[in-house]
Amino acid sequence: MRVSSEQAGDAPLEPLTPALEVRDLDFSYGGKGVLESVSLAIEAGEFVVLLGPNGAGKTTLFSLITRLHDRRRGEIRIGGFDVRGQAVQAHARIGVVFQQPTLDLDLSVVQNLAYHGALHGMGPREARRQAELQLKRVGLSDQHRTRVRRLSGGQRRRVEIARGLMHSPRLLLLDEPTVGLDIASRRELVEHAHRLCVEEGVAVLWATHLIDEVRPGDRVLVLHRGRLLADGNAETLTTRLGVATLGEAFDRLVGAGEIICD
Ligand code: ADP
Repeated sequence: MRVSSEQAGDAPLEPLTPALEVRDLDFSYGGKGVLESVSLAIEAGEFVVLLGPNGAGKTTLFSLITRLHDRRRGEIRIGGFDVRGQAVQAHARIGVVFQQPTLDLDLSVVQNLAYHGALHGMGPREARRQAELQLKRVGLSDQHRTRVRRLSGGQRRRVEIARGLMHSPRLLLLDEPTVGLDIASRRELVEHAHRLCVEEGVAVLWATHLIDEVRPGDRVLVLHRGRLLADGNAETLTTRLGVATLGEAFDRLVGAGEIICD
């Protein structure tokens, strides 16, 4: 049995509490509906691809989870904590890599990470220790003193992942993290994210419109026009739709609006 270990002072969680739980989420910008009845749950250590074309609502979903926007209907819980009613506990458990890079290019790698640690209440020594640990996880230990400006695009994204993990979140959200990267760097980033799930038990929600970032065993949530149309791995989706590839399944779903859930 998997039991979540929570910090002292927080309400104890039930065994197997999902890292992320979204229920009946509706959201609109002004009068324009953008998300409709979105429900999903992601377990600790799961790697889940949120796959949808541009405009599907992926970034909006992330904005609601992180409470950048808050005027919505439905429920969002991180590690069992409600993002509204228990905001401090909930947000302590999320790491985010935004679509637009947000590192300070003129600071060193370790300074960027230490700054983030300070925002989460870490002292300098703890922040440095955490920074070195996280840089090791993403294979960048040898770059910790390098100014971010001197890193490649792929290395910068890995620094952002390390930063997102500084406060040991249960859930890491990555919004189109490979935009602008070459194929080798994209592949490497996908590798790193999978390893985090297996080795650290972090749940990863990876938003993308690129089907080639989905690996055969990955769970895929297909989002289109604000609705979740499918939930399953490539084999499940292709079998149920009677097609040969995930690409065809995606075209079929996005074209026809069919709904499939495991
Ligand atoms: P994705 O991340 O999947 O590309 P978004 O969440 O960015 O999708 O956008 C979903 C829909 O919401 C799109 O139709 C987009 O035009 C619209 N949208 C996004 N941001 C805003 C905003 N700030 N105001 C109004 N409409 C928005």
